[in-house]
Amino acid sequence: MTYSPATQDQLLAIRVNAGIAELAASERFAAAEPDMVEAIVAGIGAFAAGEWAPLNRAGDLEGARLENGVVRLPDGFAQAYTDYVEQGWNAIAGPTAFGGQGLPFTLACNVLENLGTANMAFSLLPMLSVGATEALEHHGSEAQKAKYLPKLVSGTWSGTMNLTEPQAGSDLGALRATATPIESGEHAGKYRIAGQKIFITWGEHDLAENIVHLVLARLPDAPKGSRGISLFIVPRYHINDDGSLGPKNDLRCVSIEHKLGINASPTCVMSYGDNGECIGELVGAENRGLMAMFTMMNNARINVGNQGVQMGERATQAALAYAQERVQSARAGSPDKTPVAIIEHPDVRRMLLRMKALTEGVRALLYYTAGQVDRGTLGDDAAARRGEVLVPLIKAWGTDAGVEVASLGVQVHGGMGFIEETGAAQHYRDARIAPIYEGTNGIQAADLVTRKLGLEDGAVLAALMRDIVRDAEGNDASALAGLANDCAAIGDWMRNEASLDDRLAGSVPFCTMCAVAVAGWQLLHQLDALEAGGAASGFAAVKRATVRFFLERVVPEARGLKASATAGAELFRTFTSDELAG
Ligand SMILES: Cc1cc2nc3c(=O)[nH]c(=O)nc-3n(C[C@H](O)[C@H](O)[C@H](O)COP(=O)(O)OP(=O)(O)OC[C@H]3O[C@@H](n4cnc5c(N)ncnc54)[C@H](O)[C@@H]3O)c2cc1C
Repeated sequence: MTYSPATQDQLLAIRVNAGIAELAASERFAAAEPDMVEAIVAGIGAFAAGEWAPLNRAGDLEGARLENGVVRLPDGFAQAYTDYVEQGWNAIAGPTAFGGQGLPFTLACNVLENLGTANMAFSLLPMLSVGATEALEHHGSEAQKAKYLPKLVSGTWSGTMNLTEPQAGSDLGALRATATPIESGEHAGKYRIAGQKIFITWGEHDLAENIVHLVLARLPDAPKGSRGISLFIVPRYHINDDGSLGPKNDLRCVSIEHKLGINASPTCVMSYGDNGECIGELVGAENRGLMAMFTMMNNARINVGNQGVQMGERATQAALAYAQERVQSARAGSPDKTPVAIIEHPDVRRMLLRMKALTEGVRALLYYTAGQVDRGTLGDDAAARRGEVLVPLIKAWGTDAGVEVASLGVQVHGGMGFIEETGAAQHYRDARIAPIYEGTNGIQAADLVTRKLGLEDGAVLAALMRDIVRDAEGNDASALAGLANDCAAIGDWMRNEASLDDRLAGSVPFCTMCAVAVAGWQLLHQLDALEAGGAASGFAAVKRATVRFFLERVVPEARGLKASATAGAELFRTFTSDELAG
């Protein structure tokens, strides 16, 4: 159950894949110099392992409970959140004008990585607040920023994102919550919000002083579909002119869901305006709510991809510890018939190395993506566009890999993995949500083959694959070069020849191929950096084996997906839906 932060690998990824030194050379990110970076990575790792990890098991067993309309967490959560806020971790990448430290997104990713590895369910609380902060920073009025951002940036107040309704999941255009303009009285200029939202993460709790709900709703006579959606701030408590908290707004948590995992994260059914008095403020322009949400969705999707690393790391550590303790059978073929720890058996080593290779591959992709986002913030448009292409890759493949690694973690534990007390089962259950929320992985893959593939007439993806081929050939990594060439060719086929249905039918395997290509490329860079540094440590030896495993086994598997990526949709149309359902 113990967990130690993966500080060494995180620093490597931040240095090599995000290119933190280059970021720190800019005026904006000048504070991100090596000592500061090391202090942050070590500091948040120690905090997460020391304060949040010990709550992970109780969070799973006891979970969040709804008592008299308020969600309660197990003992220790409130103090651990207060400590997190007081130590300033929430503000790491927040805007300096509102009390943030203005450090790169790369470092905010590291804060979340450590918190989530320690306690994934708990880490959703700050993750959602960061999303709300970004939406308001980019689309809020100056008055709204002044009112909400300082508290959201510090973490004194938390934020939520209210998109989903029973009939509106992947299809947000179907949402029905309403917002009616208030013409006169105390709240003139604001809106009466009414409707029900489901699956709202940390929608109600008593860890923060106030909760800033960002709610998507429709104005009267708004155009149908996604063009008629507006974004509103709906605080749990009204805020007086002097910034103090006023009376409670007309909103409530109706119930919380019982679910497969992340039990300490309250997943709330929220009801707005039961008494017709739920007051909200419009953010940005009317009917432009989805656009505003999309601003923060890129980073939110990267943050969910980060959860693939988190669950992968946690499951791998648990499996490595168990594999050293559990003794079963002598080594096959050995004259010594003394039973050995299972870590000695070839197939267990295969599983363990696969767990490491996938986890570190997703981490390399994560920090590469974060570095591109940071370069975009500094005005590098090419990096910003590359970052956009990388978002579905890290979100979809990153979280799929997280589930696979957590499943292997159960397997390494054998029967004990299926029994709850080892914790391996919890990692598997927790990991399973990440491919679903923040846009399912199917929706991510669709985004790749429709919107992202077409960026600059395909030039953005093509340039990425060209870079990979160049470095792979320079490193004699022929399978990786082959995979990147395949991705480029499939991209061309999808854009120029395939029907939309054919593209969508091959979207998920194509997304995996592209992600594995970028992750393999970034692992190769890590290896080059270690070799250049003359590293002869155990860390370097295992990294070499891990990267070889990725390049020699994971990459060829991804090449094998070409048939599926290019098969088209014809097979799926050879029967009717009724026939399929039997
Ligand atoms: C624990 C948890 C926390 C959540 N937190 C939040 C939150 O804080 N705020 C919030 O607003 N929402 C939240 N959600 C909702 C989440 O984002 C949605 O569940 C998710 O977007 C999928 O929507 P859905 O469940 O309606 O599935 P559906 O949209 O019904 O999808 C079902 C399946 O059909 C596929 N599918 C649907 N449409 C298409 C299509 N056009 N093409 C191809 N495949 C398609 C999907 O990929 C999926 O496999 C949360 C959900 C959970 C379970």
